[in-house]
Amino acid sequence: MAPDPARPPARQLTETLGFVATGTALCAEAIGRLDESAFGAETALPGWTRKHLVAHLAANAEALVRLLHWARTGERTPMYASPEQRNADIQAGALRPGSHLAQWFSESAAALDTAATTLPDAAWSAEVVTAQGRTVPAREVGWMRSREVLVHAVDLGTGLSFADLPEAFLTALQAEIRAKRTAAGEQLDPLIGSLADVTAHLAGRGSAGVTTPDGAPAPPLSPWL
Ligand code: ZN
Repeated sequence: MAPDPARPPARQLTETLGFVATGTALCAEAIGRLDESAFGAETALPGWTRKHLVAHLAANAEALVRLLHWARTGERTPMYASPEQRNADIQAGALRPGSHLAQWFSESAAALDTAATTLPDAAWSAEVVTAQGRTVPAREVGWMRSREVLVHAVDLGTGLSFADLPEAFLTALQAEIRAKRTAAGEQLDPLIGSLADVTAHLAGRGSAGVTTPDGAPAPPLSPWL
């Protein structure tokens, strides 16, 4: 596939679908380690247990299947009926047994994989609308899902860190977060640290290993995603 000069390399579909496969496998492995009590433990995400997070991941896969259906058929099928419905589905999901959630995660991920691998080439350019109201080509689904499965694989809290994520993903994620934070008017001071540590910091997931150029601890940032 020829590079698309209008998009950063990491956003090329073949690469983002590779990120999705990696992140899905990391999540599946992390989820597979959880017994019922571990499923009920809090995550670092405010108000969310691991059950909430797994329900969110599964519902997100189903929502992205709807976007690919939209791209394939032209029939408008939004990710979620409403933000309230999205949240209600996560809350309801968090009441289910962990074994059901694990199955929901794997089945929804497989359905998304099937939807992606069978999508006609031309449909990846069809325009769809995200839950945030952005109109994007369907190929953006690859990047949207990459962020969810890779960042939340760390959020599941079974021992993974940003250093376990693909470097090309971290580079693309950091560029995106910097652009969004800057566009929102935040002043981003220079940061010293590894790619993984600085990206985790910018993603609002701890400042370990990150300092300002004069060696002071990096100031905390507002939450992201
Ligand atoms: Zn998420």
